Amino acid sequence: MPGPSSGTGSLKVHDDIGETSAVAPQPVLAGVSAGREIAPRSRTGQAAAEEHTVVLTDVAIAYGKFTAVRNFSLSVQKGSFVTLLGPSGCGKTTILRAIAGLVDIADGEISIGGRRVDDVPINKRNIGLVFQNYALFPHKSVFDNVAFGLKYRNVAKPEIKRRVGKALEMVRLPGSEKKLPSQLSGGQQQRIALARAIVFEPTVLLLDEPLSALDANMREEMRIEIKKIQKATGITAIFVTHDQEEALSMSDQIVVMNAGVVEQIGSPEQVYESPASAFVADFLGKANVLPGVVASVDGLVATINLSAGQTVRALSPRAMPAGEHVAVVVRPQKLVVGSTTAGNRLSGRVVSTSYLGSSAVYEIDIGQDTTIRANTILNGGIMREGDAVDVGFEPGGCVLLDDAGRRIV
Ligand code: ATP
Repeated sequence: MPGPSSGTGSLKVHDDIGETSAVAPQPVLAGVSAGREIAPRSRTGQAAAEEHTVVLTDVAIAYGKFTAVRNFSLSVQKGSFVTLLGPSGCGKTTILRAIAGLVDIADGEISIGGRRVDDVPINKRNIGLVFQNYALFPHKSVFDNVAFGLKYRNVAKPEIKRRVGKALEMVRLPGSEKKLPSQLSGGQQQRIALARAIVFEPTVLLLDEPLSALDANMREEMRIEIKKIQKATGITAIFVTHDQEEALSMSDQIVVMNAGVVEQIGSPEQVYESPASAFVADFLGKANVLPGVVASVDGLVATINLSAGQTVRALSPRAMPAGEHVAVVVRPQKLVVGSTTAGNRLSGRVVSTSYLGSSAVYEIDIGQDTTIRANTILNGGIMREGDAVDVGFEPGGCVLLDDAGRRIV
């Protein structure tokens, strides 16, 4: 059921999101959500709740008349790291805000730790939040920043000291208790924000593009660090990013979003190797999407005449009539430059070369104004613009999409 301003999706105003987010002291009473009785769970429901920390069911969120998110369903397994991935404006932050209680949902329901939270305010959802801009209190010391949520919970002083010390050790900033945020680098401030968010052992940690303000090296370091801390604490984490490398390297599950809806949910391997749509294929790793028409099918192998004028063979998950319009999706890494033995061979001419040290990326014109991209490890010479080249790939190394751009299953 929607919240008080249901249908309007109004944003709830908090003076300081960081402050509010660090406050998560009082557990929500079992079976009661802000004065509303909730039917007791069946044993199966209870088991599912224990296994899944955050469950969103058919959630819709609107800002005024604009529906930013539709039909959004997701079950986040306890202790897992789930990433919401998609281009700017697709609704990632909106979902996070709804889980945190910063925006009302217009439809559907959200449960955290087995309890409906639609009407539960942010400070009673037991959520840790980390933002891109750190949101630390500038005039408070590192100790007071990290201790904030614990003080709010009336935790005894010696215990606060112990837990802050442990959290600072975990983010590798022991001994920084007396410093002010302004005396720390961006990466260090983000570690403090992380310590503040995990110190009170939240049910779920929400991270909204926490790495995007950092430089490339620091980003990579923090990626590894966040993942280590998440594993060590066993905390359930939901992470928002538009960076596919971040998503692929950190996540147990990735939710690929586009224009307010889910395109695909799966492990990094699943979404990368078996994209459910042309959008997912392109968003994760710039796949080559080659339109064509089925010429014939022999058992599980379809022969496809590409619009680019060449013919390839692809494993077909189902029988397809000749003449069906399809697209062959093949990753740049699956194209073997110079191959003469692969099941498929495309001939073309190099139109651009990007030298990357140990590898190179070639743009290759295969005819009819069609360019494909091949990433290759360099172990010999490099090719230059204008060179003729053959690239090979196996029929099992590609995915077939239907006319609507959905994976054929
Ligand atoms: P980014 O990666 O740029 O942060 P996002 O995927 O997180 O994007 P959201 O911030 O969730 O996207 O926004 C989803 C849509 O809702 C966008 O079209 C955005 O313009 C719109 N939107 C977000 N906040 C509001 C608001 N307070 N009022 C009106 N529209 C909003």
